Amino acid sequence: MNRKPLPPGATIGLLGGGQLAQMLVHAGNAMGFRFVALDPNPECPAFYAGAEVLVAPYGDRAALAELAKRCDLVTYEFENIEVSGVEFLESRVLVPQGSRLLALSQHRIREKIILQEQGFPVTPFRVVRSVAELSVAHKALGPLMLKTVTGGYDGKGQQKITSAAAVESGFAELSRKTRPPFIAEELVEFERELSVVVARNPAGKIASFPVGENVHEKNILTLTRVPARINPLVEAQVLRLAEQVAEVLSLVGVLGLELFLLPDDTLLVNELAPRPHNSGHYTQDACATSQFEQHLRAVAAWPLGATTLHTPVVMLNLIGEQLSGMLEQLDRLPAAAHLHLYHKHEVRAGRKLGHLNFTCDDPTRLLETLNSYGIWTPSLLENALS
Ligand code: AMP
Repeated sequence: MNRKPLPPGATIGLLGGGQLAQMLVHAGNAMGFRFVALDPNPECPAFYAGAEVLVAPYGDRAALAELAKRCDLVTYEFENIEVSGVEFLESRVLVPQGSRLLALSQHRIREKIILQEQGFPVTPFRVVRSVAELSVAHKALGPLMLKTVTGGYDGKGQQKITSAAAVESGFAELSRKTRPPFIAEELVEFERELSVVVARNPAGKIASFPVGENVHEKNILTLTRVPARINPLVEAQVLRLAEQVAEVLSLVGVLGLELFLLPDDTLLVNELAPRPHNSGHYTQDACATSQFEQHLRAVAAWPLGATTLHTPVVMLNLIGEQLSGMLEQLDRLPAAAHLHLYHKHEVRAGRKLGHLNFTCDDPTRLLETLNSYGIWTPSLLENALS
């Protein structure tokens, strides 16, 4: 559907004022947009970037109505928000991403089924409601990753089941957090984890950024390396997959697609996130257009920007204590280290406080240098090198 481009000076509403909103505001300021964020925290990251903040819980109907009144369109920056709140917004203001894709990406079972129906390769899985069903799934699929259906992110709400003896305790452990059903996925022995950020605007134009290679620690993304060390055929296949997903789901905005690459070069889609993605932060300093500008271009019905990569890049998340460790060593950082901090002043284990984009011609040397800082575990950097 063609829509008139949103003019500079217009106001964009942000459902959620976290770091993704902060970086959307940074990009959008340069495009002439104004921002109002709805967030329970008056000093959320978007506030520090200059957005006005409506302080209320995300689902608060009065606040959502106020957001709709004050904005020309509204975009969301994370998936763990009530779909009914977004539907409420949709009845009052333009929400280009829509609530359908949100509902899908919030629910691992629905997401997998839709992807499968459309012919996309997904990790083999079973829906399980009881220990007995989990036991059957374990017999059929072997070692498993048991996941909650909703509410999981950064590895929260998942449990590895590597033996028949662990079936009962694994099920009990996850049941303490949420009620079944759960999704039991085959524990994939992947060669690499890959991701790609793809954008589509309302006119149907699609553009994807280069494929990133990701390293996770404790299931949290710690590092993205671009270009990914994969053969060009695999790169082309990932881009084609992402573009097909964008088309099939009538995406408007950007979407992060996470994949597993198996040793025989088979690809499996792990999950999707209909918003800017942590693994796409590298675009801020290494690409012609950042994923944040691209998202705003798409939702504002502007032409999409070029996605060309200018330079190899390594993105490192600064999680918990890693931030102070890094700041102490700022003088040792290579010159082309671009620091992005999120104004989160409370340091907690596992909390993402910022990231660094290292633009460099020799990622291997860079990673070896970083290894000598003693901030990241050697195994993490080894993973990014091996
Ligand atoms: P997710 O919340 O699904 O993105 O999972 C977080 C991380 O857990 C992934 O990036 C993988 O490192 C790991 N993981 C998730 N699902 C599987 C699986 N089926 N097999 C192996 N590792 C997985």
